[in-house]
Amino acid sequence: MPQQATPQSFDHVLSSMCTEPHPAARDAAERFLASNPGDPATYETVSELESRAVELLATVAEHPDPGDAAGYVTSGGTEANVQAVRAARNRTESSDPNVVVPESGHFSFTKAAELLDVELRTVPLDGDFRANLDATAAAIDEDTALVVGVAGTTEYGRVDPIPELCELAHQADAYCHVDAAWGGFLLPFTDHAWSFGDAPIDSLTVDPHKFGQAPAPAGGLLAREQATLDALAIETPYLETRSQATLTGTRSGAGVAGAVAAMEALWPEGYRKAADRAMANAEWLAAALSDRGYAVVDPDLPLVAAQLPEETFTALRETGWKISRTASDELRVVCMPHVTREMLQAFVRDLDRVGGSEDA
Ligand SMILES: *Cc1c(COP(=O)(O)O)cnc(C)c1O
Repeated sequence: MPQQATPQSFDHVLSSMCTEPHPAARDAAERFLASNPGDPATYETVSELESRAVELLATVAEHPDPGDAAGYVTSGGTEANVQAVRAARNRTESSDPNVVVPESGHFSFTKAAELLDVELRTVPLDGDFRANLDATAAAIDEDTALVVGVAGTTEYGRVDPIPELCELAHQADAYCHVDAAWGGFLLPFTDHAWSFGDAPIDSLTVDPHKFGQAPAPAGGLLAREQATLDALAIETPYLETRSQATLTGTRSGAGVAGAVAAMEALWPEGYRKAADRAMANAEWLAAALSDRGYAVVDPDLPLVAAQLPEETFTALRETGWKISRTASDELRVVCMPHVTREMLQAFVRDLDRVGGSEDA
């Protein structure tokens, strides 16, 4: 009898932006495995759930009228970002469009630019890893279709100055997109300005399958107005519905149902608790690393980066810790909901052991 494969546990995972799904989300995902929201006239139940998902996501993202927000459950942040670029490109009057993205922008924008044949203009950051406004203003011209701000960067968890970026975009008749793929379920509990409620942004990425605690594949694309989604629609001759705005055709209903179940179970108090706990853990780890003499990038959201000698990093990986590095080779620990204080204490004990043996 072939042995059944079992997935690895999360107990050593410090590098991932995914986490253990909420039990209700796992159940819902299993129930809806064999449904296809890509064909909404046939799979009506999951299609109704998707409208609910969009409304809940729009509530999280502080849309002034969540029931009126446009959007859908994507395969992830990558698809949402590609689609935001595509919508802007389809709506621009420029024949040679460009997209302005901070250097901290996720690599999905590189994919978008390549796929859609738009020029990607990356702009430098300020001293605290956020988009530099002067550099952004200098990069924007009459061919700019979209300006992107990141709310929760992948490497340092930083939040770009979203209202200012949005103003620069709109002054140039460009659209403004916010990438809150990871940060979207943390930022409602902070003072940051990042959402539809904080600035007249046009579209936003927020992923239930990251801090939203839904099983993958569940990303989210939201738009302030239906016109953004309409710009993505193509005709679908053989389906019962006449058009489709998504990038994928057949999609997993598991993503949609899991996202709704997670948000109904956790919004807002469950997410607030998870965010507070994650932030306290990040601050604890940052202090522990700093006490030991390592240079730490002060965490703003629950993501800690610190300079560790190469040998120490390698030794920790060999001990079994799943850790990753920033482009500047810093250790990067993402304090997701599955990351407990006990895990971090065990990690620091191992660090003391392997780091200590280096000195001896
Ligand atoms: C994770 C992430 C993405 C990509 O999302 P996927 O779900 O992996 O496709 C995009 N942007 C940011 C800021 C992210 O953290």
